[in-house]
Amino acid sequence: MGFVSLGCPKNLVDSEVMMGLLDRAGARLTSHPEEAEILVVNTCSFIDTAKQESVDTILEMARHKTAGRARKLIVAGCLVERYRDEIQKNIPEVDAVVGTGELESILEAAGLAPAINTPGVPQVPTLGPGNAQMPPSPFTILTSTHAEVRSGKEAEAGTHKSHPESATALVQNENSPKGGGRAEGEQRERAGRFRRDEWQGASHLLPSYLYDETTPRLLSTPRASAYIKIAEGCDHPCSFCIIPNLRGKFRSRRFESVVAEAEQLVARGVREITLIGQDTTCYGEDLGMRDGLATLLDALARIEGLRWLRFLYAYPNRITGKLLDTIAWHHNICKYLDLPLQHASPDVLKRMKRGAGAEIFLKTLGKVRAAVPGVALRTSFIVGFPGESLRDVEVLEEFIKEARFDWLGVFSYSDEEGSGAYGLAGKVPQRSIEARRRRLMNLQQAISRSSKQNWVGRELTLLAEGESAETPLLWEGRSQYHAPEIDGKVFINDFGPLEKLEAGRFYRAEITEAHDYDLVARILFAEN
Ligand code: SF4
Repeated sequence: MGFVSLGCPKNLVDSEVMMGLLDRAGARLTSHPEEAEILVVNTCSFIDTAKQESVDTILEMARHKTAGRARKLIVAGCLVERYRDEIQKNIPEVDAVVGTGELESILEAAGLAPAINTPGVPQVPTLGPGNAQMPPSPFTILTSTHAEVRSGKEAEAGTHKSHPESATALVQNENSPKGGGRAEGEQRERAGRFRRDEWQGASHLLPSYLYDETTPRLLSTPRASAYIKIAEGCDHPCSFCIIPNLRGKFRSRRFESVVAEAEQLVARGVREITLIGQDTTCYGEDLGMRDGLATLLDALARIEGLRWLRFLYAYPNRITGKLLDTIAWHHNICKYLDLPLQHASPDVLKRMKRGAGAEIFLKTLGKVRAAVPGVALRTSFIVGFPGESLRDVEVLEEFIKEARFDWLGVFSYSDEEGSGAYGLAGKVPQRSIEARRRRLMNLQQAISRSSKQNWVGRELTLLAEGESAETPLLWEGRSQYHAPEIDGKVFINDFGPLEKLEAGRFYRAEITEAHDYDLVARILFAEN
């Protein structure tokens, strides 16, 4: 079995769940597509470039079916939610499709019988490069340019880049909220937020699946790090975004399920957990919790052996005092906040259906920085939204200068059928969008260059990740101020008193050089 996972960390967790189900049913994974009998492509469909990448990858895997050993080609993920019928109609090599809400039907698609779960057997074997017992990763992790998720190197200022509806789509997982979701989601559903009428060939059924702590997962991340998806879907009305149509209404995993999964991961050697969801700051609202994310972080931070805990992504108007106090209080909650603001001009934000503006955002950032001293802040913006004027871009520039983010991504607006913005007048020409994006990225580059100089001489803890992909003469690491796969890098060019480093271990280090986005460090000593 060969598996290609595209897109964001949330899609990666879906891939890990599908691989876990396949592994438990007896399938063996290979990193060589030419050797695989069954090939799976887990797709991304957020914007046009992601869709194109998904289609190109499916076609590439289809060639292994015509010329190689592969007997079956399965397409999973967001592209299926949008083009369920079209995929098989237009690419006859595709044997089955699996939507985001029917992950368990990967077994039926692969022609495998589900294995019987044995109570007490750990469900989270790892497959990361740090684990010597495991074969090389079967993944080709390809990144997408996702406005909220940001895996794409090229879009970042400073970062390194017909299957019938199965029963699982209809049956709510036991994790699903019993109360039927948040009032906001119900209201938005009545207003048509989640409708897919304009998408020919898509199922009208919204995904409702959630995995839990008993679901098998094969981790593909390096041994010391893992993601946990704490919620799925989104109820927000952002007019540029089709994620709610693709992933369904917001729903939280049970509190106990998340805690149990985190405990299992730490017991297996994971030291860094990143909580993910479209909007983690809504966590627990559908379960009747108040300050659900803060409560969850507080419980997870108490797990012995967990060195770093962080979450992605925060919706700006849901950052509460209790959340900030919780981040500040626990030494192992990373002082890092990713809050995608999307724009700073009140006019654009109003048409984006997000509200607020530069003035309110600056107050929020001030509150965050006061409550969590030294916090690293990341955001992302979309330029070229319909009706965006040059004055709007200037407002955004002024805001970026004042806010001085540590990390920032700028994405080009992508006109998505089915989104609220699709029918808006005032579309900005593509060339102007690109010019605006470059202008903002150049601005952030200058800000980053000057602020990174302040890091020189600082001592901090680094998680060693292994030899640099750029040269074996250097190692790469991350601090608590760098989220996995997103932010700049810390290159280690001096091992100090140590002869060698170990991937997945923590070291005390001193920053010796700073570049536009990346840092260079010297190891001082190994931490426990
Ligand atoms: S918060 Fe807005 S941009 Fe983010 S996933 Fe939800 S609808 Fe999309």
